[in-house]
Amino acid sequence: MTGKIEHHLDAATLMAFSAGCLGEPLSAVAAAHLEMCAHCRAELVDIDLIGGVLLEGMPASGVLNAQAALPAMPGDVVPMSGRNGGPGGKDKARYSDGPQSFAARIGVDLAHVPWRRLGPGVWHYRVKLSPGVKGDLRLLKIAAGKRMPEHGHGGSELTLVLDGAYRDERGEYRCGDIQDVDEADEHQPVADPQLGCVCIIASEQRVRYKGIVNRLLQPLIGI
Ligand SMILES: [Zn+2]
Repeated sequence: MTGKIEHHLDAATLMAFSAGCLGEPLSAVAAAHLEMCAHCRAELVDIDLIGGVLLEGMPASGVLNAQAALPAMPGDVVPMSGRNGGPGGKDKARYSDGPQSFAARIGVDLAHVPWRRLGPGVWHYRVKLSPGVKGDLRLLKIAAGKRMPEHGHGGSELTLVLDGAYRDERGEYRCGDIQDVDEADEHQPVADPQLGCVCIIASEQRVRYKGIVNRLLQPLIGI
């Protein structure tokens, strides 16, 4: 970890995470950011408390257990009831983990990712999701100074920087920063001119690339 985290999860995403309403890919990336970010962990504690108050008085079967909803990691073979030590047994120690441990938990060694080339200066590795799960979770490596195609989104997308940095219309994203976008947002990221960028991207749906050439390329490059 280097520097201070400047970009955080939206309140709406934290609420969905707390309630267990985020899909598997988004939940995995939100959990990884929470591991690195004390600011968002504090926000989540508040949201969990508010949720607990709102749900008080509901029949036991209707109470969402936010603890059990915490990170549903792809590749995590621990059954839902056993995650985080079971309901009420959240293991705070996992929050001290960094990008390497997160990558290990999704079954990847960041130093030895079996990258597949998408195009000049861009590589990806698609993380396997649980059977039947919708969405997409992939590591992306972008060469120093590489400009990605301008694109919009068909749904929510979370991008967490694991190494290096990138910049877009909203600012600079460094290790630990997360970009939380929805379908109204369009952007054109550029990797750091010296460091390049390795990030993990979770999306509910496929991204929408602007321009006929990019749309034609999309089925070929698979993003
Ligand atoms: Zn944060």
